[in-house]
Amino acid sequence: MTKKRIVIVGGVAGGATCAARLRRLDENAEIVVLDRGPYVSFANCGLPYYVGDVIQQESKLLLATPALFRERFNIEVRTRNEVLAINREASTVSVRDLETGREYSESYDALVLSPGAAPIRPSWPGIDLPGIFTLRTVPDSREIRHWIDEKKPVKAVVVGGGFIGLEMAENLSHRGIAVTVVELANQVMPPLDPEMAEYAKQRLESRGVTLALADAVAEFRQSGNCALSVHTKSGKAYEADLVVLAIGVRPETQIAHDAGLELGERGGIRVDRQMRTNDPRIWAVGDAVEVGNRVTGQWELIPLAGPANRQGRVAADAICGRDAYFDGVLGTAVCGFFDLTVALTGATEKALHRAGMDDFESIYLHPGHHVGYYPGAQAIHLKLIFRKSDGRVLGAQAVGEAGVARRIDVIASAIQMNATVFDLEESELCYAPQFGAAKDPVNMAGMIAANVVRGDAQIAPWDKVGSSEAYFLDVREPQEFQAGAIPGSVNIPLGQLRSRLSELPANKEIWVNCGVGQRAYYACRILSQHGLQARNLSGGYSTYRVWHP
Ligand code: FAD
Repeated sequence: MTKKRIVIVGGVAGGATCAARLRRLDENAEIVVLDRGPYVSFANCGLPYYVGDVIQQESKLLLATPALFRERFNIEVRTRNEVLAINREASTVSVRDLETGREYSESYDALVLSPGAAPIRPSWPGIDLPGIFTLRTVPDSREIRHWIDEKKPVKAVVVGGGFIGLEMAENLSHRGIAVTVVELANQVMPPLDPEMAEYAKQRLESRGVTLALADAVAEFRQSGNCALSVHTKSGKAYEADLVVLAIGVRPETQIAHDAGLELGERGGIRVDRQMRTNDPRIWAVGDAVEVGNRVTGQWELIPLAGPANRQGRVAADAICGRDAYFDGVLGTAVCGFFDLTVALTGATEKALHRAGMDDFESIYLHPGHHVGYYPGAQAIHLKLIFRKSDGRVLGAQAVGEAGVARRIDVIASAIQMNATVFDLEESELCYAPQFGAAKDPVNMAGMIAANVVRGDAQIAPWDKVGSSEAYFLDVREPQEFQAGAIPGSVNIPLGQLRSRLSELPANKEIWVNCGVGQRAYYACRILSQHGLQARNLSGGYSTYRVWHP
């Protein structure tokens, strides 16, 4: 029997998974993994925590070694070997051994590309000054650690307020460094809808992080021994003894491009449902490929470890002739900083607008992560987006101190299975007082949304609150109202509503709010059954405060 020779470029999330799966499926194949870095199968996601000294030993980041691959899987791993070019006609790759400089060629029957994505490092003036770092590899994190240990920085600037930027902000703070985050967008966590990002902003500021939003780096200048100043387009300057660039990543597609493999509109390698490129003997996975979004149908670059791992597995299956398919991403992601968890799945409103989709509605709720009577309940701020016409779940975002990831994971699975808000209403989820509620936040979200789809409750749009001609009714108790209310709103506590209906206008929409949306829902039911046009400001005054911080 002739042995299949499979060459894999890149031995971390996608590549290592693919190699191990290949071996499980084909004991006879020759499998060679080439990686230009010094390690394979390392924990990229743990790097910020190694910088922050939460993970103290570098060895903990190394999940597998070439020796383990050889002994356990009979896979040949060559680190410090860079693939320079793909010769498709000859079915070979050109490789340089970075230790010796020797160049050689390696033949393949199947080639898998998992080269990942490189941090973006724009050619801003001063970008090469000492003390400016990006973070992708174990050596990158080691360098930042050394810089911190030797130079004892007091101030740092993190450029980019996305997932990695905010993880770095926390970890640098953990090392006693005062952090400023400079972010081009006018919100942190750009993947989130802005009002949901407001919770993250408030937490960062309350923990001493300075935020420079809607601003961009113009240049870096050296202002002393190892001191830098970061000048922004708005004319401000921030002092820093350390700068971390976390402004996104760019797929590593040079060798694919040079070999004439098709790239997509977002710059990633274009693959089919089996991760095969336009060359039937070449597969590509991970951060380097474009993937279809399961909700919007749009091509996206989603640099996340979960999809990279699953794609590596699908490619291995496909190479071994199995019917395995990768059917797109939801972008399910989670990030934690300063005791706050932020997570999302599926489409945001922003993404739906970008995709030209307008058949959707959003609701907000702020339930406890477990029942209120059990000590320690923390609010989960949850936004659920669903199709108005049939209730199909499209996306969710959640922020809170506990129980956030669990709810987003449940909703992610629901979206993947094309569930509707009616399915969320009916989801049977585990419950005991310290874990949740008999009506879990996911059930609650489903119920609120299902009420909208069934026509039992109309939702008022938060983005129109400032400009609407509606009558604003607040059904909280007077002391709650006095502590803060929507300007111009009229207070009639829920308990008095039935007896004061005559005070309400019959010819105008009535937009009702309470604390978190529940009493307003009861009020809307009363009003609409008395022939009045009522809409609930979903999530109540708690939501108002993030729309109007
Ligand atoms: P990588 O894991 O980047 O591996 C690519 C490998 O290919 C590299 O080792 C590279 O050296 C090698 N290579 C590239 N070109 C060549 C070549 N020509 N020849 C030989 N070798 C080559 N994702 C999450 O889901 N959750 C997280 O919390 C999270 N945190 C992260 C934190 C950080 C700091 C970083 C950098 C990433 C994080 N990610 C996270 C993203 C996640 O790590 C990536 O999505 C995932 O590693 C992508 O896998 P990959 O196989 O495509 O690429």
